[in-house]
Amino acid sequence: MTNYIVCLCHFCELHGPSIIICTQLTTKDKKQDYLLQSNSKTTTNSCSSCQLILPENVINLSTTVTTPKNETQEFISTQYPTSQKRYAALTKLVMKSLSIETNLDLTKPNFFGDNINGFCINKIFKIYDVNSRGLERKYGLMLISDNEIHLLQNWDIITLYFNEYIYQLQLKINETNEKNYAKTENSNNEKYLRRSMIRPKSLIELTNDEQIFVKFHLWAIEVLKDAIR
Ligand SMILES: [Zn+2]
Repeated sequence: MTNYIVCLCHFCELHGPSIIICTQLTTKDKKQDYLLQSNSKTTTNSCSSCQLILPENVINLSTTVTTPKNETQEFISTQYPTSQKRYAALTKLVMKSLSIETNLDLTKPNFFGDNINGFCINKIFKIYDVNSRGLERKYGLMLISDNEIHLLQNWDIITLYFNEYIYQLQLKINETNEKNYAKTENSNNEKYLRRSMIRPKSLIELTNDEQIFVKFHLWAIEVLKDAIR
């Protein structure tokens, strides 16, 4: 079976390129191998910017889908892949995707990869935040596969999903920013800005949505369902 991973990554001001959440597809009999154990939580360095925060402190999200052919698919989201090999490959791809952008046009998706670590379509995006260095935070969406041709054949649908996701997320963050700004407008704004310390911030806080990563999981399932047909 071809491997696919949908990933949301982030250039953390404290930890550098980090995986926030990745969604993988597997079969029922292999499901257990993809789930993180509760004691594995401490193996990665993370702050609220790059940590995966799920409701009720769970560390895995899984959804079972039955296909029209009556096959069972298991979609699993975790902060990082349990497989050492995939973890190493994904880390390399994340590092590359968040660091090679200097010459790139951010409005366009990007494609790179090799036979060892896999191939990847990614799109980098930035969001405005008063508590970040340079007033912006950098994220990336990635779809990774060891099947280069299949990935490129689905370029249009994958990038459509990415653009829509980024648009909706930025819209939500702008709304939250506006609400926060309105709240402080009556008080002295200059004082407010000075008080706005640089600090790590989760997408949960930025979007004011506790379900934001659960929603990512559900969205990633749709991406995978449409992109690997
Ligand atoms: Zn961090």
